[in-house]
Amino acid sequence: MKKFLGLFFVLFLSLIGLTSCSNEKTNIVSTCFAGYDFSKAIAKDLKTSSMLLAPGEELHDYSPSVADIERVLASEVFIYIGGESDSVWVEKQILPRIDNEKTKVISLMDVVLNGGKTYNEEDPESSTIENLEEDSEEEELDEHVWNSLSNAKLIVNKICEVLIEIDSINGESYKENRDNYINSLNELDLNIKDVISKSNKNLLVFADRFPLLYFVKEYNLEYDAAFKGCESAKEANPKTIEGLVNKVLNNNINVIFVIELSESKIANTVKNELHNQGMEVEIMTFYTMHNVSKDDYNKGMTYIDFMKLNLKSLEIALS
Ligand SMILES: [Zn+2]
Repeated sequence: MKKFLGLFFVLFLSLIGLTSCSNEKTNIVSTCFAGYDFSKAIAKDLKTSSMLLAPGEELHDYSPSVADIERVLASEVFIYIGGESDSVWVEKQILPRIDNEKTKVISLMDVVLNGGKTYNEEDPESSTIENLEEDSEEEELDEHVWNSLSNAKLIVNKICEVLIEIDSINGESYKENRDNYINSLNELDLNIKDVISKSNKNLLVFADRFPLLYFVKEYNLEYDAAFKGCESAKEANPKTIEGLVNKVLNNNINVIFVIELSESKIANTVKNELHNQGMEVEIMTFYTMHNVSKDDYNKGMTYIDFMKLNLKSLEIALS
């Protein structure tokens, strides 16, 4: 009987565990890391925050489960990108069902379009990228808007505004958190400008996808990348590899970049090719907050932490 009771108790506990897991209700739900991290920084412990994308998962492959949709509909604030990766399902499955009195919605691209700069993923300045037949394909705005620090400021301002709207009693705390956050962004911005101004190089080579138009434009950096935007091609053709190799050789480049969670296949090919030609380069990660790895997520790494790592890598790459 004792044994039986014990078993029952274990079962009971795991049942609680299960329900509390599947009903995980948070005040602020974001589709991606940027919305999640910015809202955590502004809400601190006044509101709970979560993201739908699992750490390590590919942003552009994500689609919501029924439970995810329930989580969004039960939230007080829902933050999505509003671009290629989430606008279709959000517009179809969320916006028509949402109770605007209960849930405030923030689209990162809307926030930026209403006060910042936007860029097309199709960037004519990058030279390695081949000109694919440009049929009637609509030009798409780069959705990775958070990679500009000025855009980040616009976004945290908006998040703060919405939090005050739904929880005015804590208004002063939200404002204080926002002001501190904007101070950190400003400091980071100055440090990045400092590194760039002290260098006589200004070309970054990415042997990878390139969700960083906003970053390079903000600092007038030149770049070359294996793929435009987040084009999901996994293999680069020999011409692309050759283009990257020549860029490195002709510009005295010592670092080639990949983005987080990359397989680094192209980067390794380029590195080996350069090695065969007597030139050594280092492969480094540039964090684009496309998503975080499980490890980094568990460590609680933030946008600011990642940008600080980028700052260190930039210092090496531009030296
Ligand atoms: Zn992307």
